[in-house]
Amino acid sequence: MAKHIFVTGGVTSSLGKGIISASLAKLLQARGYSVTIQKFDPYINVDPGTLNPYEHGECFVTDDGAETDLDLGHYERYLDISTSQANNVTTGRVYQTVINKEREGAYLGKTVQVIPHITDEIKRRMLLLDQSGKYDIVITEIGGTVGDIESLPYVEAIRQLTWELGEENAIVCHLTLVPYLSAAKELKTKPTQHSVKILQEWGINPDILVCRTEHSLPQEMKEKIARFCNVRKEAVIESMDAETIYDVPLLMKKEGLDRITLQKLKLEENEEPSLELWNDFLTKFKNPKTTVKVGLVGKYVELQDAYKSILESFIHAGAANECAVDLESVHSSELTPENATKNLKHFDAILVAPGFGERGIDGKIAACQYARENNVPFLGICLGMQISVVEFFRNELNYPNAHSSEINPSTDTPVINLMEEQKAITKKGGTMRLGAYDCILTEGTKVHSAYQKSKISERHRHRYEFNNTYLKELEKSALKPVGINPDNGLVEVVELEGHPWYVGVQYHPEYKSTVLNPAPLFVDLIKAAKKHNETTKDKIIGEALQR
Ligand code: GLN
Repeated sequence: MAKHIFVTGGVTSSLGKGIISASLAKLLQARGYSVTIQKFDPYINVDPGTLNPYEHGECFVTDDGAETDLDLGHYERYLDISTSQANNVTTGRVYQTVINKEREGAYLGKTVQVIPHITDEIKRRMLLLDQSGKYDIVITEIGGTVGDIESLPYVEAIRQLTWELGEENAIVCHLTLVPYLSAAKELKTKPTQHSVKILQEWGINPDILVCRTEHSLPQEMKEKIARFCNVRKEAVIESMDAETIYDVPLLMKKEGLDRITLQKLKLEENEEPSLELWNDFLTKFKNPKTTVKVGLVGKYVELQDAYKSILESFIHAGAANECAVDLESVHSSELTPENATKNLKHFDAILVAPGFGERGIDGKIAACQYARENNVPFLGICLGMQISVVEFFRNELNYPNAHSSEINPSTDTPVINLMEEQKAITKKGGTMRLGAYDCILTEGTKVHSAYQKSKISERHRHRYEFNNTYLKELEKSALKPVGINPDNGLVEVVELEGHPWYVGVQYHPEYKSTVLNPAPLFVDLIKAAKKHNETTKDKIIGEALQR
């Protein structure tokens, strides 16, 4: 049986529970334990697939095709493991199961209630990953803030489980905020005390407190928190704002979060965590030898979390190239063919982002055309790939009306079309082409050289695809189809001949990028950007010398 760590949050949301959970998991993993993390979200949506990215940030997709919370992305990036549907549960999913069982008559005439039926279903799911026998430790992060009405069934489920499993097998780690009042020049512990009281009212005494703070906590303050919150002094962990989220495991190690966790769970402290590869990454990330400027063209650019995995992939790929990636967002709806040069000319690479719907499409077309015609390294992801195909058919292959039927359903040249199996689907949730699919890459291409192999597997999330009616036309052109799904012949990758690096992919390479295994396409995009940067510098120097 695995040991369980429940991570709750108090005072406010956005304290970074996901990063703390992933950092603790990393330290335990680095000590030789097999660890996984799951996230329980208290909202009623069955999954975040139907949520607008402005509401909840990016929707992360797993190999098995689950549309999940973006925290699962952090878990994968830190731990280098792949998660699945079982790692993300929402209240909607819990209720759906209970209501379906009720309709099947499984409750034998009983009144179906939050306690015990909903809490039992939560408990069943909390123990599910444990049953695989693969893990020594399962970390369960609860979304939201304790005290919220929606979190209550989860808090009750944790109370029951910790009681049932015993204190050596299940502990609670509570994340709180210690705010600094600048007028009084003081750190304040009261919000922490109050949020621990809420947990205690529901019968839970946290074992560990992780206190988010902008200023270091003096020893007396830790003691005060320990005394008033009924935890051991060593179990009050300071979590200062970090320069990068990838520093957090090291900061937590310094504070002894892994040590106190192992002591509480009566697990061997065995060897010190080995974090050499992690440290190598941090050294490269913090000591870049060059900088490249990359433009991210998309429509959700106001909210950083909407493109979380893409941003993190650039960090991994930058470090792999010992190069800082200065990422600048460009709002696609503000981009036009007329202003493209002015807005894009300072970039060493351009990425056209995934997305849905019409807004900003013309700006994305302009970005593809600019990168193509000006030899700027380019990566188009999902909608970005589809738009690169539309742009090429319009401007190079003489199909002025070429479009995706998602954007213009009545176009006479639907080069991007709804997938056959999508045509009968009317429901929105979980119905796209989702998850990992194989793809065969053509040898001798830039994508093949990035992956260093012919058969790859990447994750998908889309309804539209390249329309194979136009395949012959594409094959004859310079925009070559160089990655094909072996089972159904769908075009997954296009690559432009005679361009330094111009690639469009129907899949999402960003979902599989981790600290220790950066996504190959991002690594090579940055490599190409470095080259672009050097050539541009040489050109400027050359021109200056001539003057
Ligand atoms: N909207 C496009 C489709 O459904 C692209 C999706 C995406 O970029 N994830 O095919």
